[in-house]
Amino acid sequence: MTKYIFVTGGVTSSLGKGIIAASLAKLLQARGFTTTIQKFDPYINIDPGTLNPYEHGECYVTEDGAETDLDLGHYERYLNTFTSQANNVTTGRIYQHVINKEREGAYQGKTVQVIPHITDEIKRRMLLLGEDNQFDIVITELGGTVGDIESLPYIEAVRQLKWEMGNENCIVIHLTLIPYLKAAKELKTKPTQHSVKMMSEHGLTPDILVCRTEEPLYKDLKRKVALFCNVTQDAVIEALDADTIYSVPLEMMREKLDVICLDKLNMPMGDEPDLSKWKEFLNKLRYPKSKVVIGLIGKYVELQDAYKSILEALIHAGALNECKVEIRNIHSEYLTKENAAEKLENLDAVLVAPGFGSRGIEGKVEAIRFARENKVPFFGICLGMQMACVEFARNVLKMPKAHSTEMDPDTDQGVICMMEDQKAVTLLGGTMRLGSYDCELQPDSLTASIYGNTAIKERHRHRYEFNNEYQEMYEKAGMTAAGRNPKTNLVEIVEIKDHPFYVGVQFHPEYKSTVENPHPLFVAFVKAAKESQESRSGVVKRTSEKTTA
Ligand code: GLN
Repeated sequence: MTKYIFVTGGVTSSLGKGIIAASLAKLLQARGFTTTIQKFDPYINIDPGTLNPYEHGECYVTEDGAETDLDLGHYERYLNTFTSQANNVTTGRIYQHVINKEREGAYQGKTVQVIPHITDEIKRRMLLLGEDNQFDIVITELGGTVGDIESLPYIEAVRQLKWEMGNENCIVIHLTLIPYLKAAKELKTKPTQHSVKMMSEHGLTPDILVCRTEEPLYKDLKRKVALFCNVTQDAVIEALDADTIYSVPLEMMREKLDVICLDKLNMPMGDEPDLSKWKEFLNKLRYPKSKVVIGLIGKYVELQDAYKSILEALIHAGALNECKVEIRNIHSEYLTKENAAEKLENLDAVLVAPGFGSRGIEGKVEAIRFARENKVPFFGICLGMQMACVEFARNVLKMPKAHSTEMDPDTDQGVICMMEDQKAVTLLGGTMRLGSYDCELQPDSLTASIYGNTAIKERHRHRYEFNNEYQEMYEKAGMTAAGRNPKTNLVEIVEIKDHPFYVGVQFHPEYKSTVENPHPLFVAFVKAAKESQESRSGVVKRTSEKTTA
């Protein structure tokens, strides 16, 4: 029988529920239990696909094309398994389902109410992944903080499930904050007590408390928290601020979070978790042998969560290369032809980020021109690839009005244009080309040598594509379509041969990079950055040697 663990949050948001949930899942997986994680978000949007990244960070895309919360990215990166549409549910989706059923007459004249109809639908979804017994344990992260009005139906649903299934089949971990008051030199437990009290007012008491803290929790304090929050003493877990999110599974192992969960769920302990591969990764991450500086060109660079998967993929690739990847954030809105050389000076590589709309678009084009002309390794993702095609058309093919019809619908040089099947689309949410599609690589391309394969599958999220009418002109001038969708012929990858590393991809490789399987394109890109740095310092050395001589 599948067992359920719920993770709630208290005191404040941003305590890292997603990381704690993913770390616990990792430990349980390492003990041999099949584990998955799902997230319930209490907002009314059907999914985060229509949300501005400033609101909610990156929108993460799954294999099956769901636009989901960025925490699902953490789940995949930690567990090295795929999630799906079923792993992310929002209040909007719950209500949509219930209202549709009401219109179909499924409630047979009953008044449709939050309790029981909404809570029943929440419960049904919470149990869905466990239904066919493919998982031993399903971890459910509840978005938001206890005390939020919109979280109440979720708390009630968990309360009911706990009552129905019994405490040995369903437990609650509450992630809370123990603030350290510098002036008083004291750790404070009161906010945690209040948050647990608030939960218990709704009939739900946590089984385990994970306490985020800047300072170690001493024994008496743990005892005090346990006593006032009504949990066993071993169930007060310290979660000290970590230098990297990737050390949290090891911290949780040290604190025995997995052991306590299994014990409370009345489960066998499984194998001793072997995290040697994880530790090896962490060691490489902590003790790099070199450093590269990569410019991230985007319009949301001030908000790190907006490019979460790209940043994590660079961390994975950096560790594999035993090289620290330092990101220089460059706001594309303020990048111009005049200042490009100064702003992009001394970068070892340039990555142009995905995006939508006109803001900052010319800055992206300028960054690509700079990278192409100066032979700086370049990696363009989705919009980054599309702008590489625009830049090439304008500056090499001498098509001054070349653009994507997304930004300039009236241009007669639309080298990037809307996909045919997108033209009839009127609704915004969930209607892009989403999820995993096949791509066939040119056997002699750089990307084929990087993947070591010519048949790949990558995830997508876009409405526009390369306009194949211009294909011949591009090929003749040196930009090749290194990868295409075998069914539709859509250009998935562009490359320039006469360049150390110039790769633009229509898909999002960042979604598939995990700790265990860093994405080959990111690994090759960081390697190219290292080589570019080495060859530049070689040139500098040689010139300075000459000067001294
Ligand atoms: N706006 C572009 C499109 O829809 C690129 C999308 C992206 O970068 N994810 O095609």
